[in-house]
Amino acid sequence: MKIQRLNEALASKIAAGEVIERPASAVKELVENSLDAKSESIAVELEQGGIRCIVVRDNGEGMDDDDLLVCVERHATSKITREPDLDRIATLGFRGEALASIAAVSRMRIISRPRGTEEAHEVRVVAQAVDGPFPAARAPGTTVEARELFFNLPARARFLGTPRTEFLHANRAIRRLALARPAVSWSLTHGGKSVLEAPQVGNLLDRIGQLYGAEVARAMIPVDVSREDISVSGFISRPDLKRGNRRDQLFCVNGRPVSDRGLSYVLASAYHGILRRGSYPLAVICIDLPLEQVEVNVHPRKEEIRFAEPRRVQETLNRALQGALASRYVVSPLLAPHKAQPPVERTKASISPLELRAKAGIRRTAHEAEKVRVGNERRVIGQLLRTYLLVERSDGLEIVDQHIAHERILFERLRKQSQCGEVARQQFLLPVRVELSFESAALVASSREQLERVGIILEEFGGGTFLFREYPSLLAEAQSRHGFQELAERIAALLEQGEEVRDVLFDRLLGELACGAAIKAGARMPLEEQQALVDQLMQLENPYTCPHGRRIIFTVPKEDLDRRFQRT
Ligand code: ADP
Ligand code: MG
Repeated sequence: MKIQRLNEALASKIAAGEVIERPASAVKELVENSLDAKSESIAVELEQGGIRCIVVRDNGEGMDDDDLLVCVERHATSKITREPDLDRIATLGFRGEALASIAAVSRMRIISRPRGTEEAHEVRVVAQAVDGPFPAARAPGTTVEARELFFNLPARARFLGTPRTEFLHANRAIRRLALARPAVSWSLTHGGKSVLEAPQVGNLLDRIGQLYGAEVARAMIPVDVSREDISVSGFISRPDLKRGNRRDQLFCVNGRPVSDRGLSYVLASAYHGILRRGSYPLAVICIDLPLEQVEVNVHPRKEEIRFAEPRRVQETLNRALQGALASRYVVSPLLAPHKAQPPVERTKASISPLELRAKAGIRRTAHEAEKVRVGNERRVIGQLLRTYLLVERSDGLEIVDQHIAHERILFERLRKQSQCGEVARQQFLLPVRVELSFESAALVASSREQLERVGIILEEFGGGTFLFREYPSLLAEAQSRHGFQELAERIAALLEQGEEVRDVLFDRLLGELACGAAIKAGARMPLEEQQALVDQLMQLENPYTCPHGRRIIFTVPKEDLDRRFQRT
């Protein structure tokens, strides 16, 4: 017989390793317990990133002496009792493993006093030997202390990061839960120094302000949609605020911070064409749906979930995000609350009949012009270095990159055309000839359908030579003839990257086309055309960044100018 049952102590250690991977996981579990106990205030103290010591104090429901003895046993929980409960889990915990796991790999102490009673008790657990309960003193609530994590599990201890790294993980776990519960007061100290003080607030935006700062809070767009039994609410960042990674994206499902690839994917695709690759939005999104629609018992750490109907959730999220990104918040930033001021006087040139060059699609309809005249808040002063447009506003100066602005306008129009069916095409009398390498030629030849969807008809001439026969009318005049060779090469390169997602490829194709046709830096423009460009730009859903994610508008607030000239 070679098979033996592991003894209880060893089995517990192995199980503990699953739940408690590092100090941050212990912190997360303890804090979740405090939340499940309906605490209004939670204080966490860490030493050496939590490796030496973790203390979590709450003012929740507390435990009496009997419960204190049981709570550190494996599979001991007050949160579910019967199997059907598993289908309707409303608490963060339910597996009854966390305290037992932490106790198995640390020196632990718990002091607790139930609400509405006078007595507090303490238990100590070292290497799974429980000591107590002893009488103790404490206000209602619970304190859990875990020292020397993994002291008896050297294999795991070796894989811990530096205290600094472990602190960052723990900090992040706390911030995620703090975002999930704005109504709870949070504090965190590390090595005795305060790193977070977030008193209870009435709404998520205020919590975002506490954790990320007021600037960030002001650059967030509200998300809010309910459909059938799913509700999606929260905040996502305006396109001019972004991060280099996904760390500042949080999804809470029924109050539980989760990682879910499907949800992350929907968020990422909502920003396609708005943010450049490698840039990520900030987001805090709460999704609420009937408990039985969500399976939380997927993994011991309870961060993964399964939806009964993932598509339905993703579609609702997508609709909510699209709505938010198309909202006026994106166009007129909440930034400077406008003080009522008399409209800025407009120059003669911009009021004069709008005989704008038809070239490059910069043309205003009479209707648009009227709208602009009535509510105009942006007066173009002129061109700087034939590259930037200077725009006067009542609250400062805006500097607009003429090429990127025009590119964005063309991109949006082309996208609209292609979305409602067909892109209007124009035939070249003299087709434009381009030469491609052998591999590129094969790719382009096999992607005819896709290219047709964006309005390009290419004819294969053999030997890597192609003829541009038809081209989107919107761009045909502006696209310089010698630019086609470069354009064809860039299209081939795009096709070669073989984007799995067709829509992404499609957007990038549109982006390339718009870029090729947009007014170049260094090109002179008449003032009316400059004004028309800015007016059209401001009517877009996203005037702030180009399809590649580059900045379009740079703002110099009046306060900055005043400060520089010591006018304040
Ligand atoms: P679970 O949270 O899955 O129930 P835990 O091991 O984390 O399992 O906790 C076991 C039990 O101990 C909980 O069900 C709860 O009754 C009790 N408990 C743990 N932490 C606290 C706390 N901070 N306040 C009140 N009760 C707590
Ligand atoms: Mg728990």
